[in-house]
Amino acid sequence: MPAPSSGVDAMTPYQLPNPPEAQREIVVESAIPQDERLWVPQAENVWFRPLCLNVSTGYWMNLLRVRKSGVLSRHRHPQAVHGLVLKGRWRYLEHDWVANEGSYVFEPPGETHTLYVPEDVEEMITYFQVNGVMYYCDPYGNYTGYEDVFTKLDMCRAHYERVGLGASYVDQFVR
Ligand code: FE
Repeated sequence: MPAPSSGVDAMTPYQLPNPPEAQREIVVESAIPQDERLWVPQAENVWFRPLCLNVSTGYWMNLLRVRKSGVLSRHRHPQAVHGLVLKGRWRYLEHDWVANEGSYVFEPPGETHTLYVPEDVEEMITYFQVNGVMYYCDPYGNYTGYEDVFTKLDMCRAHYERVGLGASYVDQFVR
């Protein structure tokens, strides 16, 4: 521990400016929003809610919401993904285990899987950090499409424009 200067206690805030190049913080008051318009539709019964779209490092933090028997298309991760289940329950068609409310999941680079929410789950919400790219593929790994932080950003802009919030609504989540 550094030696304390005289007259300074633990409750004294940091006195110097942050580096000028540092990004601004993001504070989202209602991460799980009251306003339904904040959920960006992604597929049938699948939505995402952006929290941080990091264009300088190439990852995105978002809530994924899936309702009744929704499927998130088969995809491969070249980079790691971290997930924390906030509500509901889901599994991958490729694994035996089930992610329950409160579960943490690490998806290793090289993993290909299909996220499935069973019919008896009304709604699942999971907080995901996705790094790099989602590589969508057929059951044999052949390329069918991709998403990255820039395609997510485009989806947000188009959706927020459509629902009347304006395309620039998403700017607050971009760093
Ligand atoms: Fe995944």
